[in-house]
Amino acid sequence: MRISPRVDRIPLSRTLALDARAKELAAAGRDIVNLTAGEPDFDSPAVVREAAKACVDGARVKYTPAPGRLALRQAVAGYLTRTRGVPFEASQVTVCHSGKHALSGALLALSAEGDDVLILEPAWVSYVEQVRFAGATPVGVPPRADMGPDFDALEAAVTSKSVGLMINSPNNPSGYVYTRDELARLADFAQRHDLWILADEIYGRLTYELEPYGSPVACGDDARARTVIVDGASKTYAMTGYRIGFVAGPPEVANAVARLHSQLTGAPNAISQEAYEAALLAEPAEVESMVAAFRARRDHILARLADIGLRTPHAGGAFYAFPDIRDVYPTGDSDRFCEALLEAEGLAIVPGSAFGVDGHVRLSYACSMEVLDDGLDRLGRFVAALG
Ligand code: PLP
Repeated sequence: MRISPRVDRIPLSRTLALDARAKELAAAGRDIVNLTAGEPDFDSPAVVREAAKACVDGARVKYTPAPGRLALRQAVAGYLTRTRGVPFEASQVTVCHSGKHALSGALLALSAEGDDVLILEPAWVSYVEQVRFAGATPVGVPPRADMGPDFDALEAAVTSKSVGLMINSPNNPSGYVYTRDELARLADFAQRHDLWILADEIYGRLTYELEPYGSPVACGDDARARTVIVDGASKTYAMTGYRIGFVAGPPEVANAVARLHSQLTGAPNAISQEAYEAALLAEPAEVESMVAAFRARRDHILARLADIGLRTPHAGGAFYAFPDIRDVYPTGDSDRFCEALLEAEGLAIVPGSAFGVDGHVRLSYACSMEVLDDGLDRLGRFVAALG
């Protein structure tokens, strides 16, 4: 049967493909450590599990309105008001099946054939494909050496075809968290070139420094009017399998995404909506413990990578480290490095090339300290053997 070229062009996600290879080796009896995970290794908080069960037992598993249940949209608006420091209303929020679904809905609503969309690299694997699927052209903008935004590169990349800018802070894969000054400069850049900003803030709750992470919506009225936030429950509440997230921004954008989804997918399932609402209203204590565990692992992995001799940009959030391999592997070919590491030491990690930045590799620390140490021992041996 013929697959439409629009879909046929879409490759399987590189991170999923790597994960599959690691599982294949493990199934064949190899001792494998897998540090490719993109999800918290914690269970979701008790309040979430109870709310999900109560929804089923209360026979409330029915269709909900296209933008999501009003009570959840209000809870999201309250959460955004608390965490982003500017007021939000339910009319600005459309609930989606996940952060990924929210991103694709926003991109389909905001970009069209002939448009360029600037993507600050390193960038999560799905951005490029989602922009292409929306008919627009992705334009990757390389980062500074510390993985922060390179403003000269941005100015060089923008053209009259550019309509928007995608940013992701805290960043997957580097853990970089934009400073307030950088956010203000990005907002100013967007204003000067009349761009929308799609801010993927899915890791916003997972930051490990004293200053809370910032959002472009807090950079003044103009920035607020041109910013669309994507966030969700997956990382903050360890709810990856619930598949629930949202788009929040100007009401006309939230409405457009709801109309689109009303035809394509319908609203997300009722169980996850009630479970997410419970999490947002309760701010469960488990989140604090999870953040504390991630912070301890972050400190540990950065220290050990330095001992191994790998320079690693400071990672202030998310649960990834993104060391530079070029000092020990001069070609910087991250695909080859990861393949050789998997074959020689049984350690699975993700090449930076998957995120548009070769010469680096991504290690996830969403795993126990024991597994992390086992993985880092293997990496250390591999690097030592490179001579
Ligand atoms: N954005 C980034 C940067 C991510 O890393 C992920 C998941 O790995 C998502 C969005 C989507 O998360 P989900 O679809 O589970 O809500």
